[in-house]
Amino acid sequence: MAVFIGSDLQADQELTCDVCVVGSGAGGAHVAQRLATQNKRVIVLEEGGFHASEKFDMTERNMVPRLYQEAGGRGTADRSIQVVQGRAVGGTTVINWTTCFRTPERVMEVWREHHGVEGLTYASLVPHWEIVEKRLNVVKMTLEQVNKNNMVTWNGAKKLGWHADLLHRNVKHCAHTGYCGVGCPIDAKQSMLVTMIPEAVRAGADVYANAWVERIERDGRKCTKVIAKLRVPETDQPSGVTLTVKAKIVVLAGGGINTPALLLRSKVDANGRTGMRTFLHPAIGAVGMHQERIDPFVGSPQYVHSDQFVDRGADKIGMLIEGAPIFPMSFGSFVPSFGDEKQALMELMPNLSLTGVMLHDGFDHPDRNEGGHVTLTPAGKPRLDYRWTSRLEEGFKAAVDAAMRIQLAGGAKQVASPHPRYARNEQQIADVVATAPFGACQVPVFSAHVMGGCAMGTNERWSVVDSRTLRHHGFDNLFVIDGSVFPTSLTVNPQLSIYGLASWASEFVLQAVA
Ligand SMILES: Cc1cc2nc3c(=O)[nH]c(=O)nc-3n(C[C@H](O)[C@H](O)[C@H](O)COP(=O)(O)OP(=O)(O)OC[C@H]3O[C@@H](n4cnc5c(N)ncnc54)[C@H](O)[C@@H]3O)c2cc1C
Ligand code: SF4
Repeated sequence: MAVFIGSDLQADQELTCDVCVVGSGAGGAHVAQRLATQNKRVIVLEEGGFHASEKFDMTERNMVPRLYQEAGGRGTADRSIQVVQGRAVGGTTVINWTTCFRTPERVMEVWREHHGVEGLTYASLVPHWEIVEKRLNVVKMTLEQVNKNNMVTWNGAKKLGWHADLLHRNVKHCAHTGYCGVGCPIDAKQSMLVTMIPEAVRAGADVYANAWVERIERDGRKCTKVIAKLRVPETDQPSGVTLTVKAKIVVLAGGGINTPALLLRSKVDANGRTGMRTFLHPAIGAVGMHQERIDPFVGSPQYVHSDQFVDRGADKIGMLIEGAPIFPMSFGSFVPSFGDEKQALMELMPNLSLTGVMLHDGFDHPDRNEGGHVTLTPAGKPRLDYRWTSRLEEGFKAAVDAAMRIQLAGGAKQVASPHPRYARNEQQIADVVATAPFGACQVPVFSAHVMGGCAMGTNERWSVVDSRTLRHHGFDNLFVIDGSVFPTSLTVNPQLSIYGLASWASEFVLQAVA
């Protein structure tokens, strides 16, 4: 019935409920809303803070440390890939860019054929997507709305004769400010913070912010306790207070990396698969320098995409091209340049445009351990090792080639790879791609889409949760309902897949609690 913050509890407490949900993002918020509106007593535990939108001051400097995991500093163990995820009531949906795709049918077919996924089908998700899309106002952008930055990607793709289409977004009265990544200041983004969490609370759910779940405890096949350590909201330091929740059903929804880490901290890893097959949609791109002002920080982050290279044959990694914004702090820290070169690049920012490309990891079928592997540091924090393969490296080259060509065709006078290496024509682009290094830590790579780590399936040897219900294979009363259950990457931006999946799986949680 309320949202509590860390400082509201001054002494250890033990609470009971029907359903305890760990994490309040895309998966957790949907489950909490569905169960609370069915008159179940729901407690949500969220490690991040509770930030109302009037606190979103539209600066990266203030909002990234507050709203992102590890204050925005998360990455793979070798620092080859920067990994960004949310940490707040509402989860990553508070900072995401609002692009919406349903899970492609071809991806679900791969799950069925190669990963033993039964029960969950495209057809079973359709009615759930229909409800969610209506509730979250998922609408297709119009060409008139596209900002200058995305227009370059659109024009470039069209000029090259490549596929280009407009994206769907979950927004209502969007003012196209461009600040989605640091929290929507006017609640136009239909994030979980302003939709499912308030609905869950109105229906009777209690949400505890600043409540980091350290571990779950078990007795045989039953999860008996959820142990959360509270933090001081202002400092994010441990407050010394422990909140223990005893629930009939526990739902883990901490997202990729964090949910497997929680299971590992709880010493739950019967088959050694927890944390394996973590996928990132590793993203790379190219920047174009234009004569006219582009202002790549104005307007919504993404309006357009191209499916041109989604299928490059089984031996090559597929990729999705999307428009992407440029913001000063992230751009300044991402591009490895120094001194005069950095100064010149930063001064050019208003005239830059970015085309992003994300790679479809998880489809190298012979490789059962493709992608990343989450383990724990001695302090119990997650560590992600991600394998940089020759397949991936070839994909990065092809992606940079495509993005540079789009920017050039879209009107740029000069284009830059992420290294950066510069080109003014197609031949020079080919030279950059042929000669620039694309090994781990030789080129900056970014991920905003963490998936997998608790793969679903029916084979208990190779999966962590049962794809027929999303119940953990080792428990009768533990479910995992977030982006960690995907056995491959999704090949499209994940949020709508997770919303549909959570809506579908809530039925099984409801049956289990009843
Ligand atoms: C910058 C950015 C832009 C993005 N843009 C898009 C986009 O345009 N479209 C799209 O589809 N997707 C986008 N995404 C990704 C998408 O938002 C996520 O994939 C999705 O929200 C993941 O949902 P989830 O339920 O798995 O986890 P999350 O939404 O990440 O929620 C997990 C929550 O659990 C909490 N938590 C974790 N561990 C614990 C613990 N031990 N105890 C308590 N709480 C815990 C976390 O703090 C977090 O709040 C973007 C992501 C980023 C970072
Ligand atoms: S672009 Fe739209 S949804 Fe994003 S922050 Fe601005 S108003 Fe909100």
